[in-house]
This record gives sequence, C-alpha cells and structure tokens, in this order.
Amino acid sequence: MPSPTTEPAATRRVSLLTLGCARNEVDSEELAGRLAAGGWELAADPEDSDVVVVNTCGFVESAKKDSVDTLLAASDTGKKVVAVGCMAERYGHELADSLPEADAVLGFDHYADLSDRLDDVVAGRKVASHTPGDRRKLLPISPVQRPAAAENVEVPGHAQHGWGPRVLRTRLDDSPVAALKIASGCDRRCSFCAIPSFRGSFVSRQPDEIVAEAMWLAEHGVKELFLVSENSTSYGKDFGRDGATALERLLPRLAEIDGIERVRVSYLQPAETRPQLVKAIATTPGVAEYFDLSFQHSSEQVLRRMRRFGSTDSFLALTEQIREYAPEAGIRTNVIVGFPGETEHDLAELERFLTGARLDAVGVFGYSDEDGTEAEGFDGKLDPQVVTERVTRISALVEELTSQRAEDRIGTFVDVLVELDDDGELTGRAAHQAPEVDGECVILDAPEKTETSGASPRAGGSATRTPAKRPQVGDFLRCEVVDSAGVDLIVRAAPDADR
Ligand code: SF4
Repeated sequence: MPSPTTEPAATRRVSLLTLGCARNEVDSEELAGRLAAGGWELAADPEDSDVVVVNTCGFVESAKKDSVDTLLAASDTGKKVVAVGCMAERYGHELADSLPEADAVLGFDHYADLSDRLDDVVAGRKVASHTPGDRRKLLPISPVQRPAAAENVEVPGHAQHGWGPRVLRTRLDDSPVAALKIASGCDRRCSFCAIPSFRGSFVSRQPDEIVAEAMWLAEHGVKELFLVSENSTSYGKDFGRDGATALERLLPRLAEIDGIERVRVSYLQPAETRPQLVKAIATTPGVAEYFDLSFQHSSEQVLRRMRRFGSTDSFLALTEQIREYAPEAGIRTNVIVGFPGETEHDLAELERFLTGARLDAVGVFGYSDEDGTEAEGFDGKLDPQVVTERVTRISALVEELTSQRAEDRIGTFVDVLVELDDDGELTGRAAHQAPEVDGECVILDAPEKTETSGASPRAGGSATRTPAKRPQVGDFLRCEVVDSAGVDLIVRAAPDADR
C-alpha cells in the first residue's frame, strides 16, 4: 500500500467513470481518494485527462454491455483507458483480449497501487491484465476470523487500514446523498448469482470506521447516508458475540451525527430480516422507514431452486410486520421471472404476493444464464420468448400496483430532501424513495413563505415583508402529497415547510 504521505510526482490528470450500483460509486470515491493521495488531479471531463478509468459493472448482460460501450467511448477520446471494477475483476484478461481498446484491465488487487499502475499506463509501460479467481477463497471460512484477515486482502470500500484518521475517499460530486459501505461480499449461494465469486466472502467494516467516514461525509455536506453492502442483514455476523445485532446498534450512532438527517439501509435479505431489525429501522429517529428486501420470487418451488428461503405467506407476513411498526414505510424489491422450471402456477403465486404486498417499487428482471452460476446448468430452461412474455405480464401488474400505492399516499405528508433544481423544477425524494431505483417527488410551487424584516412592529416600527428563500439542494421540506404520476409523487410544501 502506498504511503499517504508520499510526495506526489508531477501532476497527472485522471477522470473516473462509474457504471453499476451505489457500491461501485463508493469504490470510485475510494479510488479517487487513493489517486488524489498519489498526486493525481481529478478531471470531470475525459477530454481533460491523461487517462480515463472506467469502473465497470459485471452484474448482468445489459450492465456488461454498458460497461463495454463506455470503455469504447472513452477510447474514442484518444486518451489512455483502464478498466477496473466488477466486470474487470470477473473477466480480467479475457476482457482485455476481447477489448484491445483498453490499455489495462485491473482487478481489485490492483487498487492499492492504482496510482503507480496508471503511471505505467500513461508512460506506455505494459501492465499485465488481472487473472480472475474465486475471491471467496481469500478470506477464512469462519466469519469471526475474517475481519483480521481482511486487513491483508484488498476489499474495495474497506481501505482504511494504515491511513490513520484520514478517510480514504474523495467525493466525485456534491450531492447531499452519499453511499456508505458497511460490508462487502456475500456468503449466500443463490443459484443465479455470480457476485460472491468476484466480490468474495462476507466481511463487515468496523463500526468506528463507518462512523468516522459518516462524520467526514457530513462535514462535506452530506445529509442522507445510503448504507450499502451485498447483504446488510448479515452486518456484524463476523464480530463474534453481540454481532447479530450490530446493525441495530450502528443505526442510532449514524443518525445522531451532526448534519446527518436521514440514514437509509439497503440490500436486506428477507430470510435474515429479524423482528428487532425491522423495529430498529422502523422506529429509530433519523432512520428512513424504508425496506429494500430482495424477495426475487415468492413461489416456494422457485425459491428452493434459487437456493433461497421463504414463501408467499412468509413474505406477506414480513410486509405486515413492517407495516405494524410503520404503516407508511416504503418497501421495494427485485424479482426474477422465467427462472428455469418456473410454471404458470409459480407465476400466479408471484402475482398473489405482489398483489397482497402493495410494494412501492419493484424491479422486474427476466432470467438469463450468468457465467459460472449453478443455475446455468439447470434443466427446465424456458424459451426466451416465454421469459419476455412473463416479464411483460409481471411488469404490467407491477406498474398498476405501484401506481396505486403512490396514489394511496395522496393527502399524506412526507419529508423531502431537495436534490435537484433544474430549470425551475425542484425534485427530491421522500423517506420511502431511494436514490435512482425508486420514484421521486416533484415539488410544486416552492414555498411562498414570507419573512418580516425591518423594525419590529412591537416596537412601533413598520415591518416590510420579503419573499422567502427558494429551497436549496440539500434542504429538507415537509410536503403534502397532492398527486401522483406512476411511482412519482407530486408534492407541495406544507405551510410550515422547514422540517
Ligand atoms: S456490485 Fe453488482 S451491481 Fe454493483 S457494480 Fe458490481 S456487479 Fe454491478
């Protein structure tokens, strides 16, 4: 690992392009921190850089295609191009062979000395492409032995060791929302998923480290923390005694940080979602009443083949339990349809669940084989045309149900974090809406609040009334929901709009 005090060489410029999910966004900000420490200047525009680093996504075919397209577009600028991230980790030299436009394809193990490797690339020195391997083998099988072992393994987003009090991160935008990694990897063995093989075994970050980074984010203007991992319900399982409730203890610590107004948890596994965690998320002040539960399906038969647990009835019981604590809670999920062996009866079971659960947002994915997964070898594969038809059928149902759910919110009040002021249109998100994946709130008529100024009427002076300040990005506004459009809400600031 390079020393953070190393004198930077002559300034070189790098631009970072990020594909994929919020975990990748965190990884990019960590890479930006490393590169800044190595003397690199960050350029927003690839045209202004010496080298373009593309942080790729390797999740599904469409994400891989986007990554390749971005690499090709970066190469069209004539700048040096380096692929990092999930797709680079997963395919390594195979990607390099098929994409000569990339000057280097680097894996997670290259992150610690990325600055040096970029120097090599800029100087025209060949950098050997990453050789993929199963990253689950890098950490001990016993979870409690992992935190210590992880100090010697490159885990993106966990790179605090050896940097002392300094947070190894540079913000790449000035959004009031920032993802914050609480853990990485996954010990589950879902038959359709390749992520554990390249993100590795589950390992949690230490609570103090997470809190320190959250404070740093608050100092940089962040109002909402978006806690990310591959499986947040497992947080702390590698801490030994008391680890099972580590997330319940972490949430209030984060919510109490000065400047942090909302903490949002993502990536909950239904089978691991315990009652006390539901209660903690639903009732801890400052924690969004938001449940991102990855149900994937609800037919028991399909779930078993996916190597997952649960059923329509147990999942409905979980959504009921959430609403007992927080009737307005947001619940979102992803589902896969057309899984090998899925019958009409299974699909009807999924429809029964979706209809009963009244979810706020649902991502619908058609099954497709992923390299190296167990499901790739399953029998009972459905014709792609049938998969497409089922996606269309479930998507139509989801659209109808989620629109109804948004409509049900008309007349309620929501706290909206203002995130964009674009050509006079203010938009933001309420507690039940996560960044990018769910709907948003369109704020009508910015508050017409008036303030008095000048001499105090009490003292006999004449007061003048001045128009209120327009809400700024980063402000929280108490709003009434006046209409809906699909999953989006149309809201109007309440008379006493400041939260
Ligand atoms: S963690 Fe998964 S979704 Fe996120 S960038 Fe990597 S492959 Fe894509």
